[in-house]
Amino acid sequence: MFDKIVIANRGEIALRILRACRELGIKTVAVHSEADRELKHVLLADETVCIGPAPSAESYLQVPAIISAAEVTDAVAIHPGYGFLSEDAEFADRVEQSGFVFIGPRSDSIRTMGDKIAAIRAMKSAGVPCVPGSDGPLGDNITETRELAKQIGYPVIIKAAGGGGGRGMRVVHSEASLHSAISLTRSEAAAAFGNDTLYMEKYLANPRHIEFQVLADEHGNAIHLGERDCSMQRRHQKVVEEAPAPGISEATRQQLGMRCAEACVQLGYRGAGTFEFLYEQGEFFFIEMNTRVQVEHPVSEMITGVDIVKEQIRIAAGEPLSYQQSDIEVRGHAIECRINAEDPKNFLPCPGKVDQVHLPGGPGIRVDTHIYSGYRVPPYYDSMIGKLIAHGETRQAAIARMATALDEMVIEGIKTNILLQQDIMEDAAFRSGGMNIHYLEKKLGL
Ligand code: ADP
Repeated sequence: MFDKIVIANRGEIALRILRACRELGIKTVAVHSEADRELKHVLLADETVCIGPAPSAESYLQVPAIISAAEVTDAVAIHPGYGFLSEDAEFADRVEQSGFVFIGPRSDSIRTMGDKIAAIRAMKSAGVPCVPGSDGPLGDNITETRELAKQIGYPVIIKAAGGGGGRGMRVVHSEASLHSAISLTRSEAAAAFGNDTLYMEKYLANPRHIEFQVLADEHGNAIHLGERDCSMQRRHQKVVEEAPAPGISEATRQQLGMRCAEACVQLGYRGAGTFEFLYEQGEFFFIEMNTRVQVEHPVSEMITGVDIVKEQIRIAAGEPLSYQQSDIEVRGHAIECRINAEDPKNFLPCPGKVDQVHLPGGPGIRVDTHIYSGYRVPPYYDSMIGKLIAHGETRQAAIARMATALDEMVIEGIKTNILLQQDIMEDAAFRSGGMNIHYLEKKLGL
């Protein structure tokens, strides 16, 4: 096992990684920006290295600074968390070339999955169901593209191969607007991602977002931990996640889960990963694979008992998976509410000093947060300040626990979205389960 790990992230996930390291007897190095000296994991880490000023571009995205920090502290491996450099193949390469272990997949896997066209091709060859679409990049011949759209059937969605974060895509409802939509998306993609390659997919009108969690080791073993439903979204940002997904049968879970695990083996994938699908009328369609730990990983942990972050570290250290598929059993139901420092009415970020925090507890409640009384939420980063996770024997029991926990949770000094989360837990449609990805925005009148 590793002796010392650099945690190349901040906030709740950095603390989550630190806790996993502690349990495994691994020393930790917290690399942080000048604005993050008071972060909880920075206060708890064995060693700390300030890697630059507040803006991420000058600190958390500074590859040489992170690698130097690993060198001066004699660390062995680097955990990238999520966001920042976690899906940057170049970073993974630089880490390995500098003699450290990157806690994540091989860089070529990250590269393939970061190119959506390559990812879809890889999935198709591994037998994972994909959205009907252009089998590759769209060419310049508009007549051919029109023909293709007609075959797929309107509405279609034009997507940038290098896109991410819900940007670089445009829905086209009829042939009349196809040409202009392509030109517009192409120039946007060139500017935003430095890559103007586009592809086309059938646009699914009212899908749910359901994703499968996988773990794969270097020895050809791969398992799945079932699925999560992340359909409660606002502007493509997940707000509430749950596992298992309402209405998905055990047979379907096993069938698609095994297909994802087998795809990992076939593609030589290593580490934790997520296969994201859109689900409509009983059918799953792959949209992308995330090659990192995800914000919503705790709901899968709660229903399976598997510690995904510890498994990531063990896999990176070359150990075989601690579990076989037959060890994995879905128990009860888990829900996660993301807690953001934002105005519950207009969703604007609300950084500032947290005067008092009272965290909920009791059976089945888990709180993953780095905030504490007196902590100042800096304005430079994502507004998510924590996650509240509730587990219960049934979905209904999990919702009741979550509602109680949200009532108990007090964060004074800054505005948060707790009110919105309470509202969702009381919403009749949410309680019935299985809402699609547009439901929350409709409910909010957006
Ligand atoms: P990103 O990498 O930017 O997150 P994705 O390919 O995961 O891009 O798509 C983001 C979101 O866009 C999806 O969660 C879904 O809401 C919507 N979307 C993407 N592809 C389709 C599609 N074919 N039909 C309907 N909605 C889609």
